[in-house]
Amino acid sequence: MAQVELDHVWKRYGDFAAVRDFSLRIADGEFIVLVGPSGCGKTTTLRMVAGLEDISQGEIRIDEQVVNHLPPRDRDIAMVFQSYALYPHMNVFDNMAFSLKMRRFPAAGPDGTTALRKLSHADIEKRVRQAAKLLGIEDQLTKKPAQLSGGQRQRVAVGRAIVRNPKVFLFDEPLSNLDAKLRVAMRAELAKLHQALKSTMIYVTHDQAEAMTLGDRVVVMDKGVIQQAQDPQTLYDHPVNRFVAGFIGSPSMNFLDASVRMQDSATFLEFGSFRLRVPEELGPAAAPHAGKGVVFGIRPENLHDRLFAQTVRPDSTLPAKVEVKESMGSDLFLYLKVGDRTVHARMSPATKVDVGSTLDVYFDMTKMHLFEKGTGASIL
Ligand code: ATP
Repeated sequence: MAQVELDHVWKRYGDFAAVRDFSLRIADGEFIVLVGPSGCGKTTTLRMVAGLEDISQGEIRIDEQVVNHLPPRDRDIAMVFQSYALYPHMNVFDNMAFSLKMRRFPAAGPDGTTALRKLSHADIEKRVRQAAKLLGIEDQLTKKPAQLSGGQRQRVAVGRAIVRNPKVFLFDEPLSNLDAKLRVAMRAELAKLHQALKSTMIYVTHDQAEAMTLGDRVVVMDKGVIQQAQDPQTLYDHPVNRFVAGFIGSPSMNFLDASVRMQDSATFLEFGSFRLRVPEELGPAAAPHAGKGVVFGIRPENLHDRLFAQTVRPDSTLPAKVEVKESMGSDLFLYLKVGDRTVHARMSPATKVDVGSTLDVYFDMTKMHLFEKGTGASIL
């Protein structure tokens, strides 16, 4: 268990900065997820923590000790990669025991002094069996990797990290080789594992659903820069900019260019030939942008068939033509044409519409977002 701090960390490859001024304090036992599109610098950040990549500038500290120049083996960190990298000729037990046999661990000797010592066979066996039990692979210990399923192989790779009882676990897209169903199952297993081990974990993924379900805090990155680092619900409800708003949530938030218009004492968002009223309580935040271009954001689940809306505020309903309909059983996904704009809606399956028909769509404007057009910064 350990606290990990990244303090103004940069990684440069020549003129290109892959990670820029990255600062984050990770609490002891926290599950942190780094998420962002391909090339945003997640893996590079993780590799710097592991010691597999030099740091160009800044400091990384583990339990307040600066580790910038410590080799990976001295950082007491275990890393699980996307490729399981199991030894094909060894059985599961030996794959998990391998690093224990090779390493020395601090232990008290017969004279009472603590020194780095090799583990006894009995200790190794105990650690491997405990980890295998935790991961539900006790009955696979004599099998070779080729005789295992993808999910079982991934468990062995995780088990190999657990047996070392490291201060910090690092995961680099560990589930991306698994099929969709297994990914979801393994995701839950990893969450349980974290609850059981209570270790500090840093996890890299490009999958926002994985990030949201696993992370105590989720760090959204873009172009080497942290955009926002907060708990999943705060990220979802209060994204700091358009990038985070669009990255978190599936299907993703709808964005429509709009302009803010004041009329009498009400505030409206205008989209060419149609408009929506900003709720009174949100008016003061939108008003300073009157006359300016903004970007309106609304999540698909905040568009409703007017017939099923709980309460209907004035000037919040627009007619929309149904272009595509996807029935998922639990939800109905609709691609709707509103004027010349297309929006994506996630509605109740009770909504009865046909492709080509027109639906009165209620926009729950209490859930609206507004972003500055140029910077993408969140206004509300
Ligand atoms: P992915 O999800 O695709 O793995 P990532 O967010 O993990 O992406 P990184 O692997 O951290 O991204 O790479 C960040 C950026 O740094 C990318 O633009 C990549 O091309 C660049 N990069 C990584 N390693 C090197 C290198 N050795 N030399 C030059 N550029 C590199």
